[in-house]
Formats: sequence, structure tokens, C-alpha cells
Amino acid sequence: MKKADYDLVIIGGGPAGLTAGIYASRARMNVLLLEKAAPGGQVLVSDWIENYPGFPEGISGYDLVNKMTEQAKRFGLTFETSEVLSLDLSEAVKKIELNDKTITTLSIIIATGASPRKLGVPGEDMFIGKGVSFCATCDGPFFKENVVAAVGGGDTAVQESIFLTKFAKKVYLIHRRDELRATKILQERAIANDKIEFIWDSVVTGIGGGLTNVEKINVKNVKTGEEKEIPVSGCFVWVGILPNTSFLKDNLKVDENGFIMAGPNMETSVPGVFAVGDVRNTPLRQIVTAVGDAAIAAVSAEHYIENM
Ligand code: NAP
Repeated sequence: MKKADYDLVIIGGGPAGLTAGIYASRARMNVLLLEKAAPGGQVLVSDWIENYPGFPEGISGYDLVNKMTEQAKRFGLTFETSEVLSLDLSEAVKKIELNDKTITTLSIIIATGASPRKLGVPGEDMFIGKGVSFCATCDGPFFKENVVAAVGGGDTAVQESIFLTKFAKKVYLIHRRDELRATKILQERAIANDKIEFIWDSVVTGIGGGLTNVEKINVKNVKTGEEKEIPVSGCFVWVGILPNTSFLKDNLKVDENGFIMAGPNMETSVPGVFAVGDVRNTPLRQIVTAVGDAAIAAVSAEHYIENM
């Protein structure tokens, strides 16, 4: 067999990466998990998770990730904090370029997840950290008794808007259609919540304010063309996600939105490279599906190496 520093390198330390680490460590592979910050990923910004089996009362994203990390460490998984800059997948021994060195591996599991998509309207970038936010858990408490806007109609927008009502006195939930994409139970809760006012068929066209904070948003009704200004102290943006794949540079096949194409064994277009969780082209993005992907990928990587 070819020689490399590792049997398997897992890129990304969210639930998918940690699960792949648990399975690969238990299979006694020589495995390294790379994470550019602390383990956790997107789930860390999720206040409360109530659809992950085994926690009937729910669990915070922070606690769930801590438990997964502890579990992976118990089986001896090695972690390194480092950012992946690029991959060289041209040979069986694959090269991973990091900030300070290049490492080699026989197989790779990409579990880098996704990041929030921006609206791309005037004022959005200028007010990030001054009222524009992508994380209710991080910034919600700053808006006690304030009026805020939330944009989007998916699970994130609806779930996080409900969370915001713990702090804000009013949340305008602005959605570009007249029907939400979010799962029904979240819709029911949001509709029943007196502090949430829906603004349907509308998009935010601009975010404005003073030097230090957001004071208003401009909203346009896409059916009538009517435009109005709404005074708010914050604007939370939850309009979908983009895959974290900047290090890929055309190495692997991706779909039209940049998510990595992978087959039933999580295999990508390059043998020995697997993709799992939110970064993968998948019909359902949940923690439970991400960890399922990861278990399959770890076993696939093990089989791949055995057959080399
Ligand atoms: P999403 O499901 O892709 O929803 C994005 C929402 O933003 C959609 O309602 C979309 O409108 C709207 N949108 C997109 N671009 C827009 C634009 N430029 N201007 C205005 N609105 C725009 O994204 P997500 O809610 O972030 O969720 C990502 C994934 O994580 C999903 O698979 C979701 O199920 C999962 N997730 C699950 C949970 C949970 O289970 N509790 C919690 C959070 C996230 P349209 O509907 O018109 O397309």
C-alpha cells in the first residue's frame, strides 16, 4: 500500500465531521480531524435542537457538540486547528495544504458544512455587527424590548424568529412569498406567536441607519410594487446557505449551487474522497442526516483503503 501521513483526514468539526471521527477511530484508522476554529460548526448557533433523537426535552447546539467531541476524544481521535487552503487529489496519496505545512492522506472526508447566504442589498455589509446579524443565539440578547426584522421563510428564519421573541418586543418576519418553506410545526408556532408579524410577498431592498446601528429597512412588495420604510433596530438574515468549499478549486464535481455531488456511499467524483452533511448535494439538511452520512463515509473510507 502507498505511504501517507494518515489513512483518513476529516475536514470540518461539526456533527458530521465528529461522527466520522468516532467511526474511524473505533475502526482504528490513523485519522486526523482538521477544524479551522473550535469544533461545532453551524449547530453552535442553534439555540435549541428538538428533532435529534435521544433528547426528549431537546438539547442546545453547544451541549450536543460538546458531547460529540468528548465521545470522539474517548476513542482517541486526534484534532488539529488549521485551515485547509487547497487539495491536490491527482494521485492516490492525496495532499492537503494547510497554513503552515502540507500533509498527505489516503482518503478524505469533507464535512465543511455551509455558511449563511447574504441578501446582497445596500447597507447589509456596512451594518454587520451593528444590527445586521446571521445568528440569533449570538446577537438576540442585544435586542431586548426592541423591534427587529428577520428575513427568510425556511426552518432557520422561522425557528430563530421564534427564539428572538424571547428578547425583542416585536419581530417582523419578511418573506418573499405568501407561503413558508419551514416545517409545519415551526410554522404553527410562529403563526401563534403574538410578537411575530408576517410581511408576505416582500423583499428587503436596503438597510439604513446612523453611524453605529441599524435604524430602518426598506421593504418592497413583489406583487404590488409598493415600497415602505420600517423602523427596526436589527435585521436578521436567514435566506439560505452556501457550501464551504473555497479550498476546492474545481477538484470535485459540484451541483449548480456549488454543493459537492456524492453517491450513496458518500463517494465523490474522486476515488477516496467523500463528502457528508450540509456541504453535500442532499435533499435534507439535518443533524440526523449529517451524522448518518458521516457513518457511511467513514466505513466507505475504511473499505476504500482495504481495497487499495
Ligand atoms: P432554506 O431552507 O434554503 O430557506 C431559505 C429561505 O430564504 C427560503 O424561504 C427562501 O425563499 C428564502 N430566500 C432565499 N433567497 C432569498 C433572497 N435573496 N431574498 C429573500 N428570501 C430569500 O435555508 P435555511 O432555512 O437556512 O435552512 C438550511 C437547511 O437547514 C434546510 O435544509 C433546513 O431544513 C435545515 N434546518 C433545519 C432546522 C430544523 O430542523 N429545526 C433548523 C434550521 C435549518 P423561498 O422559500 O421562496 O425559496
